[in-house]
Amino acid sequence: MADKLFGTTGVRKIYGKEFDLEMALNLGKALGTLVGNGTVLLARDARTTGLMVADTLSAGIMSTGVNVVRAGIIPTPTLAYLTMSKGYDAGLMVTASHNPPEYTGIKFWSKSSMGFTSDEERKLEKIYDSKKFTLAPWNQLGEELVIETAVDEHIEAILEKCDADLIRSKNFTVIVDPGNGAGCVLAPYLIQKLSSKVVTINAQPDGHFPGRKSEPEEESLGDLMELVKQTGADLGIAHDGDSDRVVFVTKTGEVIRGDRTIALLAGEYLKTSKKGTVVTTVDSSLALDEIVEQREGNIIRTPVGDIQVAVKVKEENAVMGGEACGVFILPEFHLAPEPFLASCRILEMMARTGKSFGELIETIPIYPLMKTKLTCPNEKKSIVMKNLVESLPKGLEDVVKVITVDGVGITLKEGWILVRPSGTEPVIRITCEGPTKDLVGSTLEKAKSIVEKTIDKA
Ligand code: MG
Repeated sequence: MADKLFGTTGVRKIYGKEFDLEMALNLGKALGTLVGNGTVLLARDARTTGLMVADTLSAGIMSTGVNVVRAGIIPTPTLAYLTMSKGYDAGLMVTASHNPPEYTGIKFWSKSSMGFTSDEERKLEKIYDSKKFTLAPWNQLGEELVIETAVDEHIEAILEKCDADLIRSKNFTVIVDPGNGAGCVLAPYLIQKLSSKVVTINAQPDGHFPGRKSEPEEESLGDLMELVKQTGADLGIAHDGDSDRVVFVTKTGEVIRGDRTIALLAGEYLKTSKKGTVVTTVDSSLALDEIVEQREGNIIRTPVGDIQVAVKVKEENAVMGGEACGVFILPEFHLAPEPFLASCRILEMMARTGKSFGELIETIPIYPLMKTKLTCPNEKKSIVMKNLVESLPKGLEDVVKVITVDGVGITLKEGWILVRPSGTEPVIRITCEGPTKDLVGSTLEKAKSIVEKTIDKA
């Protein structure tokens, strides 16, 4: 079937077309072989293929003599947290995150609560490809156990981290939209413990995603925006399919970009840890740099992907990490995305200041951001990107810095441009941010024509 197993984060494939149960079985055997002995935690999101894939993985793992603890349907962060807190030898999450319903996939986690790094993935892939599995005889097979307290344990740990009494004292009304994903089993119950009223939409786990698209973007959050506005709720919270992302909606029904929320929280963390480091990906807003610099903090940018952020957070002993798509990594707790504690931190700030989320986020500047894409055959992508490192800064004015951690990023005197090849489509994407719409528009046009010419010449 499909040639390359691992993508940006774990395995993510279309079931029946790119992924079948034999692959799950062999992946289970490969992971068991990698782990050697001990116990792994296995959970899944709400996808229609989830139970079947998890059962098959489990069989593969047990055949190598490694034990499996099954946690059923839980959010990805719950699996990561428990893998760490219980000291399991690895964690496996059957999920395709925010992808459409026909997708399935597996994310791997290590004891440190961090997702498998690309080195760890390569090791696993090598065993998978070689099919050299360490299989156990009939009397040394792994056993399967069940844990039913995963969600409760995670909720309890979150409540211990935040000032729950302070939040409760404000009697907030919160609307939670888990998007029919794994967050259904945790998010409403956590928020219920902190507010006087919780209203849910799309809160029954359903792998068909009947309520909305799994990705929590403004276009798919219309119902939540409307409901928050109409009911006068204090906050709207939306998650993706495996609930490792969160996006917030203000009282007035406005969806707030993740990088602005990261800036808000980073500002808080930097109050207590002066000169701390904040890690984000190359596509986050300049507003984040501004807030971090105001607080005398240090900002580091990584390639796109939550594991890339987590690796840097750990390396740099950062106070916080995040991605504009709604990923919050809070190392005070663990190294996986932690959307639930991030939600609590927002409620806590609202409670402490007496301000609404909308009022709090107003302190974070918002800059115009525009995107465009150009068709580019996959085989031309690498040469085009290589040539752009020279041609792009040459054709632009006021270039301050060229960053090549992921694609080609250009810091301008005012604003930035990021050019990245798509990992899934034959296109190259251009994103531009700056102080005014006019300036962003003209810079984007210039960049577009340079990229176009570079593609034509390649
Ligand atoms: Mg996700």
